[in-house]
Parts: sequence; C-alpha cells; structure tokens
Amino acid sequence: MNRIRLLSEQVANQIAAGEVIERPASVVKELVENSLDAQAGRVTVEVQAGGRSLVRVADDGAGMSRDDALLCLERHATSKIRRAEDLAAIATMGFRGEALPSIASVSRFTLTTRERQSQSPEGTQVVISGGKMLEVKAAGSAPGTTVDVRQLFFNLPARRKFLRTEPTESAHIQHYLALAALAFPEVAFTFQKDGHLVWQLPAIRSGTDTPARLAALRERLRSLYGGEHSLLPVAFSAVIRSNEPAGEEPGSDPGPQTSNLRLWGFIGAPGVSRLTREDQHLFVNRRPVQNRGLNFALLEGYHTALMKGRYPVCCLFLEIDPAAVDVNIHPAKREVRFHQEGEVRRLVAQAVRETLLRLAHGPQTTDHGPQTTDHGPQTTDHGPQTTDHGPQTAVRSPQSSVLGPRSSAFGPPPSVLRPPSSGLSPASTTPAPSSRVTPAAAVPLLNVPLRLLGVVGRLYVVLESDRGLVLLDQHAAHERILYEQMLNRLERNDQAPSQRLLLPETVELSARDASFVREQLPVLGRLGVGLSEFGERTFLLDALPPFVKAADPRRFVLAMLDELKASGLEVNSLRLGEQMVAKTVCRHAVKARDPLAGPELEALVEDLRHCAMPYTCPHGRPTLLEMNFRELEKKFGRTA
Ligand code: ADP
Ligand code: MG
Repeated sequence: MNRIRLLSEQVANQIAAGEVIERPASVVKELVENSLDAQAGRVTVEVQAGGRSLVRVADDGAGMSRDDALLCLERHATSKIRRAEDLAAIATMGFRGEALPSIASVSRFTLTTRERQSQSPEGTQVVISGGKMLEVKAAGSAPGTTVDVRQLFFNLPARRKFLRTEPTESAHIQHYLALAALAFPEVAFTFQKDGHLVWQLPAIRSGTDTPARLAALRERLRSLYGGEHSLLPVAFSAVIRSNEPAGEEPGSDPGPQTSNLRLWGFIGAPGVSRLTREDQHLFVNRRPVQNRGLNFALLEGYHTALMKGRYPVCCLFLEIDPAAVDVNIHPAKREVRFHQEGEVRRLVAQAVRETLLRLAHGPQTTDHGPQTTDHGPQTTDHGPQTTDHGPQTAVRSPQSSVLGPRSSAFGPPPSVLRPPSSGLSPASTTPAPSSRVTPAAAVPLLNVPLRLLGVVGRLYVVLESDRGLVLLDQHAAHERILYEQMLNRLERNDQAPSQRLLLPETVELSARDASFVREQLPVLGRLGVGLSEFGERTFLLDALPPFVKAADPRRFVLAMLDELKASGLEVNSLRLGEQMVAKTVCRHAVKARDPLAGPELEALVEDLRHCAMPYTCPHGRPTLLEMNFRELEKKFGRTA
C-alpha cells in the first residue's frame, strides 16, 4: 500500500507559516519588510487586539500589477531573487517568497494593490480566507499596497491558543516597528493601535555619508524614545581580508580577497547599561539581527566600562558586503552568519573600544590601525577643542545662583579644577548645546572645568560645572586610577612599588586554593603583593602595594583570593588574566570611606582626567554622575 502522498498547497503553506509566522508581530514584520523592499516612502501600520483581530499594513511603494498580485500569493513566488547564486548576495529584506502565501493560509486576508507606474486609476483586490481564494476584482485605490490580515490563526485553534495577552503581542509589534523605523529614517512610519495613534514619525531626508546618517538616526531615536540618553556616535570602517584562497586557476590573482566593513550608529556612554539586551539594537545591512558573535564583540569592546551581568545600550549598523554574510539561516531571517566571524567580531570590538576611549581624549589621541579610515572628526566632536568653558568666559545659566554662595562649611575653599587641555584653543563663548538625545555635540564632563564644593557621606565628592551638578564616587575613581596605573606598569614590565610588612604573616590555604594561588604568584608579585611559597599549603605574605592600607593584611589577601577565584570562573578567554588580577587587587586596595583633603581630591580628579576610561571603575560602575541644570529645573518643578 502506498502511504506517501504530496501535501496540498494549502497544507504546505500552513506548515511554512508555522516557521515564518509565530505571532502577529511576525505578520507585521513580513508585511513591513515587503513595503520597504517596494521602496515605500510611507508605511502605515494599524493593529487591533494585539494584532489578533487585525493587522493592516499600507504603503505607497511600487505596488503590483494584477498578474503579480495573483502570483505573489503562490509559494516560492518572489521578485527578489532568480537563481541560487543570488542567495549569496541578498540586498533586499525578503527573498524566500513565502511570507504572503503563509500569512494568507492562516488568516482572512485581503490584498489591495495598484502599480505606481501604471496610468490606470484601477488596482486589484484579492480576498483569501484560510488559503482559499474567494475573490479577485478590480478596485480603485491609491498607488501602493495595502494588506489586511484579520483573525490570525482562525483556522488553527492550537496556534491561536499559544498567543499571549494583547499587551504582550502589541509590545512585540511595537518593538519590531521601532527597529524598522530606526533602520529606515527616510521612511515615514505611522502606527495605530486600537484606533489610537501611537507614532507618527516623519520621513527624515538625509545624505548617504556617515555624519548625515548619524544625524538622521539621532532624530529618529529622539522621536521614538525622547528623553535624555547619553549616547556616543560610532563611525568606523575597516577592510576585512579573506583568508580563503582567491582562485584556484593558474594565473588568477593570488592576493587576498577583501571586503569592506562599516560600523556606525550610537552606543551608550560608559556607565550606561541595562539588565537585559532589550536596548541593544544591532543591524546587519539594515536587517535587525541576533548574533552571538556581535553580542560578545560589544561586551569585549566595553570591557571595564560595563558592569558584570549588564548589557550595553546601542543602535549599531554593520554594513558589510552581502556576499560576506549569510542571511538564509533562519526562517524568520532573525539570525545571520558571517563568513569571517572572528574578524568581524574583532573589528566591532575595536570600533566600540575606540569610541569609548575617544570620549575621554578627543579624536586626536586614538591610534587607528592601518585598516581603519573614516573617523571623521565631524562625527566625533568630543574633543576639548570644540568648546572651552574657561572660568572667565563661561556663560553661566542664571539658575546656577540657586545653589547660593559656595559654602566653605564643606571644608576647603572652592577651587577650580581646570581640564588639562584648557587654553589649547581659543575659548568659545557658546555654551555646549544641551542636546536631549545624545551628547554627540557636547563636551565630555572631564573636559570642562569642575569646581570642588565638598564631600558628602565621606564618599561622594560634590563638584560644580557650568552645566550643573557633578558627583564623583571617590572610591570608584580611585579604583579606576589605580587600575590603569597598574596596567601601565604591567605593560612596561615594571615592578610595582611594594612595601614590606613589619611582621610577615603566613596564610594557610586548602590544597585546591593553594594550587590556584601558585599560578597567580608571578602576577601578584609584579603588582606588589609579596606572596611566596612557605610549605605545601602555606604562603608567606611579606609585602603589599603601598596604597593598601589594610588593617589586617591576611584578610586582605584571603578576600582578594576569593574574588580572583570567582572571576576565574567567568569564561571570557579574550580578557587578559593579568588585567583581571589587577582589577581585583585594586578593588580590595581602595577603601571607601578614607577622608581625603581638598588638594588630594583635586589630585584625584586630575588623575582621573588622565585615565583612558575615566567614566567607569574597572568593574563598570560609573565614577561620575552629572545632573545638568535642565534636570535640576525639572526636579524642582521650574520647567515641565
Ligand atoms: P519575498 O518578500 O520573500 O519575495 P513575499 O511572499 O513576502 O516574498 O512577497 C512575494 C512578492 O510579492 C515579493 O517578492 C514582491 O514582488 C511582491 N510584494 C509583496 N508585498 C509587496 C508590497 N507591499 N509592494 C509591492 N510588492 C510586494
Ligand atoms: Mg517578503
């Protein structure tokens, strides 16, 4: 008996829908991608009941002829690729030719479309229910395409049951739409939910160069999220050299193949992070993607500027030769694979790191590798040269007087901590613009003069700048300074200063801990921790770095070892062991509540200014917090 038979078209479509259409947000995604592929200038999305009862996507794109309108509903019908080879270099969002027939097989579906090119005012309307064609007719419509998807999964009760609550499904839809809107600022997006207007994002015209695209993206970010975000612009490009042989035939060029990589967008300033990856938006050739390698690259790039277990905030666009990336590995096209994963990862980490370093030092100090090119100063104007609020020329906002005369009751008389670079360039009298979304045009905090006001809680140093109030975590700042000094010494192969203990102490450890410590002895020694073997499980502690003011040196060593063991479990091969040890030593060296005198505090700020990553401690916690006058005014109810 023959038991194998070909599935009907309708069943095949429903099976495909199982992969491509998970939930209403997938419908929105597929339809919006089609609109974008059709060169739409305006996309309107309307949903009802979290997309369960209605998803409508209307565009003013190319539209379709009557024949195409019928063909597009066939499985494997697409205008975007022709041959298998085209899969190797996909430049459109869609290419599988599956979305429309899949959606139409699991919903009540109406497609209305009119070709933009055609002169006739008449379009075509196709009505399908659960994959069955009910009607095809001529219909008057504006040029473009509108797709109505009603009662998703009405014919698949099991799938319908898996849908979440309306707010959850709406949130998924909104999340995807935000990504699409970020990737296409030149397209106007409207989003309506249950009859209410959620967004009306105007099209932002811009040039194609990176500064223009950054400006457009910034504006889109602002209209989507508003509020204050400390974001830094990224503009990086490099050449990837392929290690694959170029050609086998004799006489062909044996040189390495190259492809260009560009990374641009915004990343959170040091200290800005989230508990989830929710605000981490990554795009590859404008497609929102998930890719483990890119996630790691981001974390690596941030390195000590990110707290453990926290995630960066970013909106980054990676542009790469379509032939260097495979987008056909996930039915919903959510994931991509790079042909040279390691190289892409390394360059992305480098781009992030350079951006963070540039924050502290301006563009002139970064050392570009031979591959990196377009770090145009126009996109990276963090340099101290852009504005110099010297104390004499600074334009003070009148509100600063509410702070009253600076009281000397806090301790030392106020003094002006000048940035190391002040006076390098003619001072401008324009105050830094208080940009809402990103300080792309603002001067980094440590490049403006800071006046010392006092200390609260014996830990938080209160400072004032021309922009408002600044708080410095004395402990975190000290840790950062020590850490960078240690790393510099390690790099130069210098022995750190070390102070002999009056009374050497012995430290006894378990067999396992003893063997762990034995491996760390050389690094510890170079950092100034004099620990040597004194028996099988016993160590002699006879020196400590001078900055360690531990009352109980033995406990200091034990606590440090615990921490080292814990960090040793952190699997991240790309971080240097030495750096980890240094990080741990300073954490245990710096004691929070040491009272510091005025000159010491000034020295602290000055030392911080010379750090490569001054805005976070080595564990990613912020060293400085700024509350500008705008925020103060808001808090005191002076402005809305
Ligand atoms: P794919 O996008 O992978 O090609 P789809 O099933 O999503 O597959 O769409 C099939 C075809 O229908 C597309 O290739 C395109 O030619 C046409 N199409 C779909 N949506 C639109 C639209 N909004 N405007 C113009 N053409 C469209
Ligand atoms: Mg499509």
